[in-house]
Amino acid sequence: TVSETWRPFNRSRVYMADLESSLHYSLRLELASHPVIKEEALKSLKKYISVLAKYFPGRPMVMNSLKSLNSWLQNQTSDQIFYEAFKEILDNTAQAPETALPEGVRWVGCQGSQPHFRRYPCGVWTLFHVLTVQANNTGGSDPREVLSAMRSYIHNFFGCRHCAEHFENMAGEMPGEVDSLPAAVLWLWSSHNRVNNRIAGALSEDPLFPKIQWPSPDMCPACHAVKDNGEHKWNKDQVLSFLTSHFSSSSILTDYLE
Ligand code: FAD
Repeated sequence: TVSETWRPFNRSRVYMADLESSLHYSLRLELASHPVIKEEALKSLKKYISVLAKYFPGRPMVMNSLKSLNSWLQNQTSDQIFYEAFKEILDNTAQAPETALPEGVRWVGCQGSQPHFRRYPCGVWTLFHVLTVQANNTGGSDPREVLSAMRSYIHNFFGCRHCAEHFENMAGEMPGEVDSLPAAVLWLWSSHNRVNNRIAGALSEDPLFPKIQWPSPDMCPACHAVKDNGEHKWNKDQVLSFLTSHFSSSSILTDYLE
């Protein structure tokens, strides 16, 4: 049974409603469990917000909120901040709350068949795929900027602690492998598939959304190839162009936004 109204969606598309919902969950719920953010965690938050302010392909009201958060954070000289102070800037309480990040979650492409399936973790993956693709499309300067922000955000704040540990182990291999912006896009895709492979069939899997090696041959026939010995192999050039278009800002659907 589905407890809230199901929002029909296209499984092969990315929705802005999921990205904004993830930002709301991350910035207003996940971070709120850290009343004081200091030292390494504060550095991590600064990197995360800076990457969002640079690459999140958001609506003007959302970008406004991310940019004021970023300039406020970068100006903090103390080695700790209070979450409450951060939240005031986020909600833009002093000026015009209607120009801030919308309140609440509205999952669309990340809906699950039960409330404990999908949602925020699905949104986090989607968000960081979009950010690596945006950095590549807009010519970011440091190939590891987005991934190292993701790595430290997950390490310091992601609520699923065993997920964070697994991810930290994988991310340890990242520096040597990621030497260009396209390599960062492919690294995240391939790491996500490793996670899909590891947890396929687990209790956390939504039966309506089985874990696959993604994208499926239906979504991207050209991504799939066969080696001489008959084994499957990925055509990485095709995967990169598929990811570049799938997660590009111009492909993101704006259905179900307020
Ligand atoms: P998700 O895996 O969340 O993917 C979201 C969407 O991204 C998919 O619907 C699909 O459209 C697309 N997608 C799928 N694969 C790829 C790919 N390779 N590249 C690009 N896009 C893709 N759960 C655990 O049980 N154990 C863990 O150790 C664990 N570690 C995690 C680590 C991180 C960093 C994160 C963000 C989540 C982790 N999770 C873990 C949660 C798990 O990966 C899923 O997010 C969750 O089970 C929901 O799955 P989903 O069906 O919504 O698809």
